[in-house]
Amino acid sequence: MNQILTLVNRLRHSDNLAVLTGAGVSAASGVPTFRGQNGLWKKYRPEELANPQAFRTHPEVVWEWYSWRRQLIRQVHPNAAHYALVELEKMVSTFTLMTQNVDNLHQLSGSINVIELHGNIMKNKCFSCNQPSTEDIHLGSGLPRCKLCDGLIRPDVVWFGESLPMEALKKAQLAAMECDVFLAVGTSAVVEPAASLPYLAKANGAYLVEINTEETPLSSKTDLFLAGAAEQILFELSEHIK
Ligand code: NAD
Ligand code: ZN
Repeated sequence: MNQILTLVNRLRHSDNLAVLTGAGVSAASGVPTFRGQNGLWKKYRPEELANPQAFRTHPEVVWEWYSWRRQLIRQVHPNAAHYALVELEKMVSTFTLMTQNVDNLHQLSGSINVIELHGNIMKNKCFSCNQPSTEDIHLGSGLPRCKLCDGLIRPDVVWFGESLPMEALKKAQLAAMECDVFLAVGTSAVVEPAASLPYLAKANGAYLVEINTEETPLSSKTDLFLAGAAEQILFELSEHIK
């Protein structure tokens, strides 16, 4: 049977679907993935900038990179992959979307039960006291500082080497354990602890599906691997299911 139809069948009998998304889901919207061809900014790899040590040593460079990414993300729109996930949410009785993306496109497209595992690039918090900051950022007038403790303000995203927000991670793990189908879409499946969620789901009996343009370390462990672009495969899937 056609692979998409196999998944359609599974989903028709599912009442608890969990989906993990990564940067590949937003690629068709024009947001570069970290590991794709457009991942570099100036001469830097994302890993060199998205970490606390980089912010300690050259916060102005890290801020410049985030300003550039924010500007880019403000101009993009959700794509067919995001909208197809909105349709899937309507279809199953329990649906959880856990995303490693920080671009807010799932919420913008209309998904409701979204867990942000790596934060949100449009939000800020204090690097010292961790309190959220709602002030507008104007980099022209120097680096932004916390009103409470004068620490440096930073983007509210999870950097390499940092822990995930505890609440979000717990919810995601629970959803992975309870779902009957787990779908990993557009993620390189190497960044922990999100990378463990598909294995947790499978260990608890879920049917594990992956959608990616390339094979990942997860692919050989799946029950079904659909090779291709998320925006095409998810669109086809939602058309069958409607
Ligand atoms: P990644 O960049 O490591 O991997 C992207 C994956 O998507 C790759 O496996 C690639 O083969 C696949 N892919 C590319 N285009 C695709 C498409 N059209 N359809 C399906 N798959 C496609 O991204 P990651 O696994 O999400 O992890 C990297 C980290 O980068 C995360 O922590 C995330 O917070 C951050 N990040 C977020 C964004 C965003 O918010 N849009 C963008 C870049 C990076
Ligand atoms: Zn502070």
